[in-house]
This record gives sequence, structure tokens and C-alpha cells, in this order.
Amino acid sequence: MSEAITQAALLSLVDDWISGGRTVSGPSFVKEGLLLYEDLQNAGQLALGKVIRPADSIKKYFLPRHEELYRYTFAGQNTCLENIDLVPVERVIVGARPCDAAALPVLDKVFNWDYVDEFYTRRRDATTVVTIACTLWDDQCFCTSVGLGPAVEKGSDVLLLPLAEGYEVRCLTEKGQRLFAGKTTPSETMAAAPTGPERKFDTKEIDALLHGDYENPVWRDIALRCLGCGSCAFTCPTCHCFDITDEGNASGGCRVKNWDCCQFNMFTMHASGHNPRSNQAQRQRQRIQHKFRIYPDKFGEVLCTGCGNCTRNCPVSLGVLTTMEALASSDAGRDATENAASLKG
Ligand code: SF4
Ligand code: SF4
Repeated sequence: MSEAITQAALLSLVDDWISGGRTVSGPSFVKEGLLLYEDLQNAGQLALGKVIRPADSIKKYFLPRHEELYRYTFAGQNTCLENIDLVPVERVIVGARPCDAAALPVLDKVFNWDYVDEFYTRRRDATTVVTIACTLWDDQCFCTSVGLGPAVEKGSDVLLLPLAEGYEVRCLTEKGQRLFAGKTTPSETMAAAPTGPERKFDTKEIDALLHGDYENPVWRDIALRCLGCGSCAFTCPTCHCFDITDEGNASGGCRVKNWDCCQFNMFTMHASGHNPRSNQAQRQRQRIQHKFRIYPDKFGEVLCTGCGNCTRNCPVSLGVLTTMEALASSDAGRDATENAASLKG
């Protein structure tokens, strides 16, 4: 036995959430061909049809692109600080892709590690994630290569699995159960598990390459194409780097947190002018090393859900998958001089 909901009942429920005062977000076309996660005014704006995935990710609901941390004013010799007591909106994200939801437990680790980031955790607590299992994928998708899949439950409060008509409803947390209580009907039909994209690389082999082959010329070759635009990181569900700066004038201002990206040449620039990652090859290597070696060494899992956004949104079609394929096919026996020269200047 399972629980099910029709498409019409789901859309009606979404309208009820909105009219009941919740902020509801989900995939929505903002213009022809551009699907993003958007706040919905009504269920009709929700794109549940045959589309692969939004061009952005749901991380923006937990780690906004820009946010104020506190404000300050100068009064003579004194500085007055004003804390921002964040009360997040009660949000439901409906129609999230499993590769977006799966990023949340990965991010939870870094935002609760040596310091609990309350801006992040309060938003996490106030948000319920309703995921729909994927029945479509494209050449950029590789969730199955990183141990996930099109119906993975990780990070979701509710997983909806498409049936011939409507959805099988799997409530996975108390938040999810509260949201769907009394809204589903018992069903004899169980959704078939979707297979997902073919496995494209083995993370264990990549791990061995990253540990043992730091000077691989692949980084130089990739860097020749990379524009350093940051699109890969900004559309990634798991990239989470930010910069903290002051914005204000002689009378006061605010301390703000903005998204940042390891592909920007200023990302590691020191005040002295020294930059430990002074070229794009080093920056590309860092991104992949962080996702597939450093983060797993520290937190036990890769910093990637295989969503493919980094390749799909890259103006020169780079991204993790392209890099992985280049790494996996790189010539392990190449000349040592070439290795040593590969990342210089
Ligand atoms: S999106 Fe592509 S071009 Fe832009 S920084 Fe990332 S890899 Fe480089
Ligand atoms: S690194 Fe690329 S494939 Fe992996 S989660 Fe980020 S955008 Fe998706």
C-alpha cells in the first residue's frame, strides 16, 4: 500500500498553502526557455511538465545571494551595533529536484561545523522541501555517478513519485507528514523506480587521481577555456563560498554576506598583493579538489550531487562532468617535465 495524490489535488493544495500565508517556491518559467526556482503567486505558475531541471538551485532559499548580517552607526567615538534577528518566512519548496534536495544535508555539515550559522539553520528549520522524482535526464546529469539517483530521498521532507495519473506520496519527515496530513488517499499502486542516467565515472578512481596526481596537465588544458565567470558555482546546489564586506559611509552601514566563487581571480588575493592561486589552472584544480577530495576528507561525502548545472550553465561547456571525463582519460604515464610545468604562471 502507498499514499497518492492526483495532480489536480496537488495543485489545489499548493494554492491552499499560498492562501494560508506560506511562501511557496518551485520551478517556474520566467521567460521562454528559462526555468528557475521562483516564489509562486498561484499553482498555475508551477512547471511540472517535461523539463529537466531549473537553471539555478534551491540553495538561495538558505544561503541568499546577498544578506545583511548586522548594521552599525558611528556617533563620535562610539560605534553602535544593531543585530538582525532573522525571522525567516515559512516556506514550502515544491517540485524540487532530488539533486537539489540532496545538497542540503551536505551543506548542513559546513554550516554547523565549527560555528552554527543561524541565518542558514533558521531558514532550514522554516522550510519544507517537497521533491518530485525525475523521469527525464540529459547528457549533463550524473547523479548516479556520485551515489545518488532520480528518486533519492536525501534532503527531502516529502518525495513525490510520478504515477500514470498523479503521484505516490512518501512523507519522510515530521514536517512533511504535517504538510500532507489528510491530503492523500491510500493506493494499491506503487511508482516504478526510475533508472536515472548511466554511471559516467567512479568517484573512487577520481579520488585516487586527485590524491596522487596534483600536477596533471588536464588543469592547464581546462583553464585555457575557462572564462572565470562563476556561473558554475552560482548555479551549483552545493557551492557555498561567500565573502563578508562592509557597505556604508562615514555615518554607518551594514556588514553583508555575498556569494563568492573560487573561479574569480580575486577570490584568494591577499592584502599584500600575493595570490596563492594566481592562474586559472590552479583555480580549476582547487574547485575539483575541494569537491572530490578535501570535502570528503573532512565531512565524509563529495560536494556534488551530479545535477549537471555547472556544465549546462557554463558558456564554454566546462563543468565537473567534462573535467572528470578529462581526468579519467588523462595519460598517467606522461612526461614528468610536462607535469611540473603544467601549473606554472
Ligand atoms: S562557468 Fe565555465 S567558464 Fe565560467 S568559471 Fe565556471 S568553468 Fe569557467
Ligand atoms: S558541481 Fe556541478 S554537477 Fe556537482 S552539484 Fe555543483 S553544479 Fe551540480
